[in-house]
Amino acid sequence: ERDTEPAAPGSAQRDIVITGARENNLRDVSLRVPKGRITVFTGVSGSGKSSVVFDTIAVESQRQLNETFTSFLRNRLPKYERPHVESVEDLSVAIVIDQKPLGGNVRSTVGTATDIWSVIRVLFSRCGTPSAGGATAYSFNDPAGMCPECDGVGRTVHLDLDRAIDWSKSLNEGALLLPGLSVGSWEWSLYGGSGRFDNDLPLAEFGEEDRRLLLHGSGFTVRVDMRTASADMRFEGVVTRFERLYLKRDTAALSEKRREAAARFTVERVCGACDGARLNAAALATRVDGLSPADYARLEISELIGVLERIDDPVGGPVAAAARERLERLAGIGLGYLNLGRETTTLSGGEGQRLKMVRHMGSSLTGLTFVFDEPSVGLHPRDVGRLGDLLVRLRDKGNTVLVVEHDPDVMAVADHVVDMGPRAGSDGGHVVFEGPYERLREADTLTGRSLRRRTPLKGAVRTPTGRLPVRGADLHNLKGLDVSFPTGVLTAVTGVAGSGKSTLVSRVFTAAYPEAVVIDQSAIAASYVGALDAIRRAFARENGVDAGLFSFNSSGACGGCAGRGVISTDLAFMDPVTTTCPECEGRRFHDEVLQHRVAGRSIVDVLEMTAAEAEKVFDDRALLRKLRTLDEVGLTYLTLGQPLSTLSGGERQRIKLATQLHRTSGVYVLDEPTTGLHLADTGTLVDLLDRLVDAGNTVICVEHNLEVVKRADWVIDLGPDGGRRGGELVFAGTPAGLLAHPTSVTGRYLRRDPG
Ligand code: ADP
Ligand code: ADP
Ligand code: ZN
Ligand code: ZN
Repeated sequence: ERDTEPAAPGSAQRDIVITGARENNLRDVSLRVPKGRITVFTGVSGSGKSSVVFDTIAVESQRQLNETFTSFLRNRLPKYERPHVESVEDLSVAIVIDQKPLGGNVRSTVGTATDIWSVIRVLFSRCGTPSAGGATAYSFNDPAGMCPECDGVGRTVHLDLDRAIDWSKSLNEGALLLPGLSVGSWEWSLYGGSGRFDNDLPLAEFGEEDRRLLLHGSGFTVRVDMRTASADMRFEGVVTRFERLYLKRDTAALSEKRREAAARFTVERVCGACDGARLNAAALATRVDGLSPADYARLEISELIGVLERIDDPVGGPVAAAARERLERLAGIGLGYLNLGRETTTLSGGEGQRLKMVRHMGSSLTGLTFVFDEPSVGLHPRDVGRLGDLLVRLRDKGNTVLVVEHDPDVMAVADHVVDMGPRAGSDGGHVVFEGPYERLREADTLTGRSLRRRTPLKGAVRTPTGRLPVRGADLHNLKGLDVSFPTGVLTAVTGVAGSGKSTLVSRVFTAAYPEAVVIDQSAIAASYVGALDAIRRAFARENGVDAGLFSFNSSGACGGCAGRGVISTDLAFMDPVTTTCPECEGRRFHDEVLQHRVAGRSIVDVLEMTAAEAEKVFDDRALLRKLRTLDEVGLTYLTLGQPLSTLSGGERQRIKLATQLHRTSGVYVLDEPTTGLHLADTGTLVDLLDRLVDAGNTVICVEHNLEVVKRADWVIDLGPDGGRRGGELVFAGTPAGLLAHPTSVTGRYLRRDPG
């Protein structure tokens, strides 16, 4: 009957129809998502947005797609288990564009990941003088083009002699610090037992010849005398030996221990042969319009566009235009400050996500469903507008666009908004609003209310107790920056993407003040785990048994499923089938464990409790303190048994903050702490930061979220733009001062809504 429904204006497309979704915390959710439209999913973190978009829609799309393949193909693809949902109808193929780091290794660059470098290679092979050959001649991932010294990596690894050797000591005193060379060992005897060196002379006093022999000697045999035996051995200098054992072979083949040792004693240097450009001499000697391939890799994208505009001859023109079109897409989404040679492993999650987005923008496929995870991450309000344009263009090519997002400027481009709630975890999992953004602003939901609330600009700021100066910072794009970080206050470091915020705070400042505590979203929360340990101990004490019994990773595990609670069976031609373990019925523990109780509850009962419920059951003081900490950071909705791996970044970050709340006079550094946070959570986060500061601590946040900037005591604004056009101090002072600043981009956006 759906065919007879009136189509949405301008589209003959149907809806994606989801019925009875129960993944994670979802409470039998049914909803329709319009195809060919932009739908933004909102709601506090933990409300169930990802459970709908990623764990139900995207997974089911992938699974249904796999079903259309031959069994031969299917067996070679990742297996998707059917999500907990009655049905999802009228799905199209989903492409997930998330913030997982770009699958990258040292050979993956912005140029190769976007395929733009292959266009540049064509340009050089057609128009370069003198030409080095056909296209692979300009590929650093092909033997025809790569620098032979560094194999196209641009860097070479060397033994760090100052870490490998204690020059103040003699061979007998243990001057050789490398693994396997302890005094008296067989390997040590190659040097100490060779009779060639004065074993009691500090290495610093060795003559030039002895030093060379010890480090690099080779090509002769020495008679090595040990106490118990003697033998003729081929001599090999300390450096030569280390390079053969640790550096000359495929590092993937080295054992973990050896890899660690290698990392401990080595330094990386820019390759001397290609100066980091990765290409061989013939390739690097080629010029197009006076510039070498190395110049093309080093120029910032926004500069490279200008260079390519000058190439307009019949041979090069069309190639240059093709490259330019792709580069303009990157610049258009605020990545103009990157260069093609930049290794993708060094990009932030947000930068990586925008690269993936641009890759798909070039595709002419239509009728797809694009799924985005908070694409505004890392974007200054100035660049969020361009992001919105990109989403609209994707839609207008005939695609469905689903976005999980907290930024009101992104919500504003949505055709349809689905608000999840009412709150998080077991208090969430419902659709609380569906409709256009304008109506969401009036809705009586947490999101609607937060959108109406205005955060006033902080007037009465705290007085700093001191200053932590940074002098002459020049890493990456920083231009010899002198800047002081005030202590005893909340500082926000602002600026457009690529202006140098992370470089200044996460690299330079933390290197200068190593006692600073970095609070990111990735680290595992020890106190949460600590609460579980305390619970196990309480069970052990009460029942006079071993605490390991109360862990499903330990002696308490059900034998039938090894503590997993489920059993997966691989069926040759179908999805693996996961069934509840018949022995423990999904409880993960063996039966005997469940007989042991505290206040009438078994360990399984307790793991299903939220922190708030557990507070009423236990009277162990250490445990109560840990549970209350979860309370203080608003996470009492989490059940105690929820695996840490399933917590959102924001949840992990708040647990980390909770462990710090009782400290004083520490320095805390946070890089974009509002990532993944709803407007309401952002308020809670700043409340937490305020409490840390009130207790005598110093807090420094890299942050483009104006809600945080407004509540800071001090703002350090970098700019004026990204990359080479950034790296300068634009402003340092109070939020009110920034509001009045004539040129700061951040100040300009602050004036849009000063609260
Ligand atoms: P959102 O995307 O709105 O932040 P999620 O959909 O990620 O929320 O999570 C909804 C709830 O389900 C949260 O309480 C979260 O902790 C929980 N959750 C998410 N993934 C899992 C999982 N794999 N197992 C158990 N609980 C989960
Ligand atoms: P922000 O935090 O303001 O977005 P960043 O500090 O990440 O800015 O970047 C500032 C400049 O330094 C940019 O031009 C960026 O491309 C460059 N940059 C950042 N990290 C690296 C790196 N690991 N290697 C090379 N350049 C980098
Ligand atoms: Zn090289
Ligand atoms: Zn079992």
